[in-house]
Amino acid sequence: MKRHSIRVTARCAHVGPRGRCAKNTTITHPYCGKHTAEVLGLRVAKSRVPNAGLGLYAVRTFKKGEHIVEYTGQRMSIEDYDAKYAQDGLGSYGIEVNADTVIDAAKTSSSVARYACDYHGSGKRGPNARYESDDVKVWIVALKTIRPGEEIFTDYGHDMHLAIGII
Ligand SMILES: [Zn+2]
Repeated sequence: MKRHSIRVTARCAHVGPRGRCAKNTTITHPYCGKHTAEVLGLRVAKSRVPNAGLGLYAVRTFKKGEHIVEYTGQRMSIEDYDAKYAQDGLGSYGIEVNADTVIDAAKTSSSVARYACDYHGSGKRGPNARYESDDVKVWIVALKTIRPGEEIFTDYGHDMHLAIGII
């Protein structure tokens, strides 16, 4: 599985009282690590799941039912998505937003939402977050209170309808 394999460096999008942040970001778009924590309350770091690569962590408390982060990426039809990934059978970042459309977060400019790992292998009995679509956008939503320092885990099996071959 080619996770997090595409990397692009871009300048942090945060604009503060003294102008735009001068830092570059490669892992967390659109913000640098500091501003991802400040603005989104999230941090990307090595997952506690062995061999899972990077994971997504809370740096503030998220309450049950709270929208943690939007799952963004390239919008495409399910037909195009299937065609794109038919050759290698991989579609790790695709999530159905409705019956016609998939959000493919494989692109570098996609949000940090794509770093949320599946809870299997984490030692947790279940996920603490899940993907929710309102037919227009997909969000990662807290299933319970998530405290600072906790890794955010979803369940790809139930939520990532098009994620073929992850489990
Ligand atoms: Zn920044």
